[in-house]
Amino acid sequence: MSDHDTTVFRDMFNHSFDAQWILSADMHIEHANAAAVSLTGYGIEELVGQPLSLLLPPKIAKAHDTYVAHYNKHGETQGVLGQPRRFEVLARDGSLIPIQLKAFRLGRGDDERRFGATMVDLRAQVLLEKEQLHTMAQLKRLALIDPLTELWNRRAFDDALDRQCALVSRHHSAAALAMIDIDHFKQVNDTYGHAAGDRVLQQLASHLKEIVRKEDMCARLGGEEFGILMPACDPESAVIVIERALQRVATDRFDLDDGRAISISFSAGIAAIETDAAADILLEHADAAMYQAKKTGRARVEMWVPEIAATPVRA
Ligand code: GH3
Ligand code: MG
Ligand code: MG
Repeated sequence: MSDHDTTVFRDMFNHSFDAQWILSADMHIEHANAAAVSLTGYGIEELVGQPLSLLLPPKIAKAHDTYVAHYNKHGETQGVLGQPRRFEVLARDGSLIPIQLKAFRLGRGDDERRFGATMVDLRAQVLLEKEQLHTMAQLKRLALIDPLTELWNRRAFDDALDRQCALVSRHHSAAALAMIDIDHFKQVNDTYGHAAGDRVLQQLASHLKEIVRKEDMCARLGGEEFGILMPACDPESAVIVIERALQRVATDRFDLDDGRAISISFSAGIAAIETDAAADILLEHADAAMYQAKKTGRARVEMWVPEIAATPVRA
């Protein structure tokens, strides 16, 4: 190679957007370009002659030393050289910078084995990925969470019910579904206003979450109707859970924004989820049982039994 070629290649090396390194056989830095200086925050004179481990996070430095020792003895057997990998470098200020690394063997011009490495700064990309994850989480939240009560919404509940039906059929286990509807809620709105009604809905939602078991799923199905999905729960236990909720709500005071507080009650219907049950039929059963509870006095829970279907629903 002519002196001119050498100058051209050196200039290429120095002008690269990516950090470029030439390393000796024992992994000491022989050359680093301007991008390497700006990536790591070290001056060129602080880099040249230093072991590469200067730039490696401690937990990687050890694995790297082991790899180099293995490489020098046995050659490349681990597919590290030539493969682009995500990695982090330890900058002068102690920060870890995400990079894409490609390390490779360089030709032996003077009988010396050398290595080259090129590093793409991934900070902007990692930031973008984080933003995308955040956006995805927000979208998921918008798609599955009811904004007023922060309970699961109808869509999330329907999906979970479908999954629960499949699980019960596969394992012949027990599960139950409860539908809850606030009694005379229209009166709350008419008397105290819609905003006060909203506040009551929010408080009932948080009470329900506290009362049910950890594994139960609470959802707002729409308006002033809530659903509770109770996995691994026989019908008798489901009734006990809902009766506990009825008692708690009966003694609770629900705050209105203007300093006043009111009492409310709800009616509930339960359907047992059995093998081969279909979600839409279960919802109909729980709904019919709930209206049976309305018809027979409100502030109570009914378990669906086939006789309920024969009686006219909707009190
Ligand atoms: P019942 O005991 O038979 O259930 O009587 P109810 O008054 O609760 O039943 P109805 O279905 O007649 O009324 C439900 C009311 O719920 C009507 C509507 O104004 C109110 N509602 C529905 N969604 C919301 C909401 O998001 N916010 C508020 N504040 N009210 C709502
Ligand atoms: Mg209703
Ligand atoms: Mg109601």
